Formats: sequence, C-alpha cells, structure tokens
Amino acid sequence: MSLTFSATDTTVAGSHKNSSSTVHGAYGFRLTGVGQRLERHELSPLEPGPDQVVVKVAGCGVCHTDIGYAFDGVPMRHTLPLVLGHEIVGRVVAAGGRVVHWQGQTVIVPAVIPCGECPACKAGRATICRKQFMPGNDGDGGFATHVVVPGRGLCHVPDKLPGGITLAALSVVADAVTTPFEAIRRAQLGSEDIAVFTGAGGIGGFGVQIAAAFGAAVVAIDIDRERLDLAAQHGASLTLDASQMNEKDLKSAVRSFVKQSGRSGIGLKIFETSGTTAGQATAFGLLDHGGYLAVVGYSPKPLEIRLSNLMAFDATARGNWGCPPEQYPAALSLVLDGKVVLEPYVEEHSLGEAAEVLEAVHQHAIRRRAILVPPHN
Ligand SMILES: [Zn+2]
Ligand SMILES: [Zn+2]
Repeated sequence: MSLTFSATDTTVAGSHKNSSSTVHGAYGFRLTGVGQRLERHELSPLEPGPDQVVVKVAGCGVCHTDIGYAFDGVPMRHTLPLVLGHEIVGRVVAAGGRVVHWQGQTVIVPAVIPCGECPACKAGRATICRKQFMPGNDGDGGFATHVVVPGRGLCHVPDKLPGGITLAALSVVADAVTTPFEAIRRAQLGSEDIAVFTGAGGIGGFGVQIAAAFGAAVVAIDIDRERLDLAAQHGASLTLDASQMNEKDLKSAVRSFVKQSGRSGIGLKIFETSGTTAGQATAFGLLDHGGYLAVVGYSPKPLEIRLSNLMAFDATARGNWGCPPEQYPAALSLVLDGKVVLEPYVEEHSLGEAAEVLEAVHQHAIRRRAILVPPHN
C-alpha cells in the first residue's frame, strides 16, 4: 500500500496554527494474544490530537520487555490487540495545534512520557507519573511505519549525525541507553567509584560504557564470553565470567580489584542489568558496607534474599522505571560524542520481519539488540 499524505493548514480558535495532517496507509505489527505471532495490521488514518504528534518511524528497538509482553504474559496497561514497541526514533510528520513546534523535527520518543502536571511530575518524580504514556503499552507503539505519541518530552536529534551512527540505531537511546543512564545518574557515580554490572547484554553493555564515561572503574559480570569481550573493549576494566566462578570467587575478585584500583569511593555501586534471578542474586551477594544496588533489569520471577543485609551493611537499594525526558539530551550526547558506541550492540532488520525477529530474540537466536526499520527509510 502506498502512503498518502493530506496536509491541512488551518487556524484553530484564531490562535494556534494547526499544521496537523492525516496520515493514511500506515501499518503496524500487533500482538493479539500472549504467545501469538505478531500480525500486520493496517492502521486507521492517523490524526494527531491538539497535544499529539505523528512520528514517521525510522527505527524501533526490540526490548526484553516486549518479549515479556508477547511470550510471558507480563501485564500490559492497554488491552490487546496492540502494536508493540517503545524504543522509537523518527520524524514528526504531523503535529497538533498546541505542539506545532515539533513539526518536521527528528526526535527520539522517550519510552515513558510523563504528563508533566500531576503531583509526581511537579515533585520531580516524572518517572512515577500515573498518567504517563508508554508507546506499545498504553497505546499503539513503534513496530509500525508511523506512531501517534504525546507532543511533549521528545528529544531533538540533529539532522547531521556523526559517521558510523545510523538514525535507526538511535532508537535504542529511547530505553536501553537512557534507563541505565538514569540509574547511573541517580547513583551519583563519579571518578572515585567502582561500578559493577551484573549482565553485559543490551542494557548492561550500554551501562558499562556510560559508567566509564562518568569516570568510574567498571567491572562487568556475565555468563557469556562474547559479551564480556565486548565489554572489555568498551569500558570494562575487569570482566568476570559467572559461568566459571561461584559467588565467593566473584566477591573476592571484585574485592581485589577494588584494592588495586586505588579509588577512594565508599562502597561498591552495583547495577543489576541482567534481568535474571541469577544476576540479581549475584548483585545482591556483592553488596558490602555502604554499598549501593541499582535494580535496572526486570524479571517477573521472585528471588529469596536476606533483606537485612541492607541494614547490616548500611547499604542502599534503588530501582528506576525509565528515565525522565529532561535527561535524554545528555544521554544522547554521550552517543553522538562517541563515548557510548551503539554499532557492536545493535542490528537492523526490516519491519516486515517483525514477527520472525521477535521470535528469534525470544529464542536467543538474535543476540544483539534488534531494531525494526520500516521500508520507506
Ligand atoms: Zn524497554
Ligand atoms: Zn504526571
């Protein structure tokens, strides 16, 4: 089907210039039920509301959470069927009357877009906004040619990108880069700190690089040799293969690294980025006096731990759900400045293969972060 585009240029209530236009011929890949294959679906004509924009998708990353929704029955806020995908980059091709300034801009759509007006938002806790919008969870998402999203909190992307960075690859900034970025920022990580990552896959691989960019000495723990090798090339000073070491060995290897590092930071800063109970157990087991545990990965499974370790070690544990939109430009700068490389961690596939790609990610046949790219790019 060809894409048609009917622009209207009218004045609303004599004040706001409305450059909104209706996008016809858009389609997306919907989840119809848990365990069902994604289905291509022709979307009704997309017309932005006064506070919304229509983004022509340049790329949408496939997240661990999408696999949870599609295969494991992780609850979604919107009823099925729904187009999945919350790691979106693209160009605003239609904008509502109150958000016309976005028209024509290339943007990253934050995975979580807060309302900006509720008590949580006003208190600077935008990520817990109960009126937040997450594409592919609260409404149709980015496994599509186009998506309608709120016209606020979007992150402007410069037209000219540095060599080696594709626009589609920047989709992963929407979640896989910004979520660990926010966890690292909240941990107030600095150059005297040691950062430990349990899990060096998608989110962990970017977390390792961000932590190194913040000046910390970084330890990466994983059960996958390839991921550890990549982490060693991009930010990790020490890599530990948890498939070959028990918890005690890991702990003493980290301790001797701390001693040798000469860093004066008090307490390890540990980032759980595996989203597995094994990784969570390792991360919790590494907590020591004054330690800090950031829970970044998600697992629906429970884990038995001795919570009183937090008390005994005077330690802190903290989670974070996404990243506030105002932090996106700083996270994007790390990528554009070459401090966080995306290329070895991502691979692009055509949107038409959405169902197969999701299945392959589920089966671990695709190891890098998959990005779905619509054909018009
Ligand atoms: Zn995600
Ligand atoms: Zn809010």
